[in-house]
Amino acid sequence: MDHSATTPVDPLVVDAMLPFFTETFGNASSLHSFGNEAAEALSIARQQVADAIGALPEEIIFTSGGTESDNLAIRGVVPYNAGKKHIITSAIEHPAVLNTCAFLESLGHEVTYAPVDADGIVDVEKLEGSVREDTVLISIMHANNEIGTIQPIEKISRIAKEKNIYFHTDAVQSVGKIPVNVDDLGVDMLSISSHKIHGPKGVGALYVRKGTGISPIVFGGNHEKGMRSGTENVSGIVGFGKAMELAAMRLDADSVHMIRMRDSLINRVFDTIPHVRLNGHLSNRLPNNVNMSFKYVEGESMLMLLDMQGVAVSTGSACSSRSMKASHVLSALGIEDEFIHGSLRMSIGRENSMDDIDYVLDALQGTITKLRTMSPLDEK
Ligand code: PLP
Repeated sequence: MDHSATTPVDPLVVDAMLPFFTETFGNASSLHSFGNEAAEALSIARQQVADAIGALPEEIIFTSGGTESDNLAIRGVVPYNAGKKHIITSAIEHPAVLNTCAFLESLGHEVTYAPVDADGIVDVEKLEGSVREDTVLISIMHANNEIGTIQPIEKISRIAKEKNIYFHTDAVQSVGKIPVNVDDLGVDMLSISSHKIHGPKGVGALYVRKGTGISPIVFGGNHEKGMRSGTENVSGIVGFGKAMELAAMRLDADSVHMIRMRDSLINRVFDTIPHVRLNGHLSNRLPNNVNMSFKYVEGESMLMLLDMQGVAVSTGSACSSRSMKASHVLSALGIEDEFIHGSLRMSIGRENSMDDIDYVLDALQGTITKLRTMSPLDEK
């Protein structure tokens, strides 16, 4: 129940990767046949990634994952377009975007954090109102990693296009869950991470539309056409390509399956557990995301008791970095502290079954009853 954190690697992905550790282990830059084999594997993977999002293979830059892709999009575009120093993002972005923006602020750039409504949807009018002459980039995530809310990316990209501003979206959580097509979304740049879609960890990509003014942030031997130097992670990229191909092929069936489990879990929690709220938009949310708050209990206590029963979840009461800070996402939605402290994110995976959901519901009911009986906060 923690697939938004990471996913198991699909056995078909492992099979595709294995030869690239021991047999086809060449350096893709080498001019001999071992190198050519590795280079050929990279080009197949590049095509697989491009096909899955409706892009051209030359628009794909392989990176070490979602964090690096977000960094490259923001730190690559903003300083490259000198003179324009204003960025617009939202209050609920992933730290890979927020901390990159904070770094640029420390260098003298200016950042507007567009507010969101109570469901976590970006206020598009306010966002449009914050556009300035010197706005160079808008970066708004496709779907939120904590609450699963899906943003109106097409609307925002239209505004960006009209005003000649680059538009980046972090699609790390949406790829493989909902359709992601760079032309339909109208984006200039889009971040993807392999380990969220049953691929290996430490690999991902940034899609960069042809003609986007961007400079590298990692310099060296000019790999990835100079946009991301460093010997390519061939086995990882091969696995990522396969994972993207599978995600695109399975998208319709997987999303129907996950929505069924998601809605069953949400409805049965509401039916059987009192003092609970759903965080995020009711329908405009990722097929696999359930984020609920339980009054009178602490997120960490629920997490630990559930873990003892073999159920892995995450909580917004302490941040994923274990820094014990409440979720900036739930705070931005205006949720009261007592609900934030009792929040749980349960993120379903394509390999889960209805039996798993039954088990989770059972474990959740028992856990909350137990904690509420012990809780001094329980008014009942
Ligand atoms: N962006 C979002 C929305 C995420 O959920 C994550 C991972 O949690 C990242 C970026 C970072 O991706 P990676 O783990 O590949 O660096």
